[in-house]
Amino acid sequence: MADKRDLITVIGACNVDLITYVSRFPKPGETIRGVTHKKGFGGKGANQAVQAAKLGASVHMISKLGQDVYASETRSNFTKSGVDHTKVFTCADPEIPSGLAPITVETSTGQNSIVIIGGANDELTVEEIESCREIIRRSSWLVVQLEIPQEMSLQAMRIASEEKTKVLFNPAPGVSELSQEFFTLSDLVVLNETELELITQKKVTNSQEAKQVAPYLIHSLSTKAAVVTLGSEGAFYISKEENFSVEGVKVDQVVDTTGAGDSFIGSLVYFLFVGTDIRRALQMSNQIAALSVQSKGTQSSYPDRSVLKSLQ
Ligand code: ADP
Repeated sequence: MADKRDLITVIGACNVDLITYVSRFPKPGETIRGVTHKKGFGGKGANQAVQAAKLGASVHMISKLGQDVYASETRSNFTKSGVDHTKVFTCADPEIPSGLAPITVETSTGQNSIVIIGGANDELTVEEIESCREIIRRSSWLVVQLEIPQEMSLQAMRIASEEKTKVLFNPAPGVSELSQEFFTLSDLVVLNETELELITQKKVTNSQEAKQVAPYLIHSLSTKAAVVTLGSEGAFYISKEENFSVEGVKVDQVVDTTGAGDSFIGSLVYFLFVGTDIRRALQMSNQIAALSVQSKGTQSSYPDRSVLKSLQ
């Protein structure tokens, strides 16, 4: 039978962002009136899945939700964005909430305070992941981050390796101690400067330092290839064979950079999925992520496939 790989699978977290805007943060014990409130869909895994699907890939999400109203809203959002959520499981325990991120934004300063409740995201089991083997086998890429328990991410990566599915690993949020297995099981590691600093334990305060530190991923952690995203300065690719930079796109007005890295990763896996070479895939992902920072919101700012024809 031909090795048909017509999917992308993303394993990771789904969160609902509950954003409250206030003129100033309340003191402990104080009640104040807020300015306004907004709800958004997030979770790095969910964002990456939505971006890849918006560009036209067939994307499966592996995750877990509670039994609350946020669960049904998250499923509707996946359906609307074209992400298959048949492998987004539901917690048997009704007391466990869906992943939630209550965020307070102070309008006068733009500062925020964020609480993340992992909730159902922390409840995925080895058996549930094993039940996704066929989907992973049919995928050309598995995309993994660090917002679910590490052992579950690793479990999915091991299945991918057994089924010869390539792995894009995004070690986010950054951690300072990570099993080397994450790197040896990855075909491509994509991370930002903060994550690079945490993982390598080497100072990374600008793009120059990032380029100097990046070889450590290849030589000391045995990563096959890596991309360091550099915000407005674009991205840097490194493998044993070659390294090159992709220049940042000049943007007239940066409106909201939340989730730019996830837009970049969702786009990158889409372009690799359709067979684009890595250099071109990075150039186009860089342009799509730059578009995403020019409008408000996270998933709502992600371009769809109508932009593909205008990419340079
Ligand atoms: P993260 O969102 O994880 O912090 P980065 O800040 O490195 O990641 O941004 C990811 C990508 O988004 C960059 O590589 C770039 O393509 C794009 N990007 C981010 N900020 C800007 C910006 N100000 N101007 C243009 N592109 C940007």
